[in-house]
Amino acid sequence: MRFFYILVFLLPSIIMCQNDLNYFSKLTEEEKNIIIYKGTEPPFSGEYNNHFEEGVYCCKACGSELFKSSHKFKSSCGWPSFDDEIEGSILRKKDYSLGMSRTEIICSKCSGHLGHVFIGEHLTKMNLRHCVNSTSLIFKPK
Ligand SMILES: [Zn+2]
Repeated sequence: MRFFYILVFLLPSIIMCQNDLNYFSKLTEEEKNIIIYKGTEPPFSGEYNNHFEEGVYCCKACGSELFKSSHKFKSSCGWPSFDDEIEGSILRKKDYSLGMSRTEIICSKCSGHLGHVFIGEHLTKMNLRHCVNSTSLIFKPK
């Protein structure tokens, strides 16, 4: 019974404490699954996968500006891809989940999960690909 208590009541609050609750309170269940619990939307399903307008992509949770439309490129991977970021807007963390060694990217302001960054694929001059969930983003047109 005590273990059950820890699992149901304590664990979520420990996870939530790492982030600022105010930023996440208005998110939908689907958004929470990705932004708080680090889920991944299905490939080719996201709103911004084939979106190429001029503007800025911001964090859905806190509104912080993350990527410019000039950073976005067609990678055909199924998720919005950016080969650069707005300086200081993103933090990188080692992620060993799913039996893989990857680098997770999170919003530097609210710690919301964005996706992963891959280096060395030679897709653009910058040689890196921020692979981001559309669900983690909100687009601000120019
Ligand atoms: Zn944020």
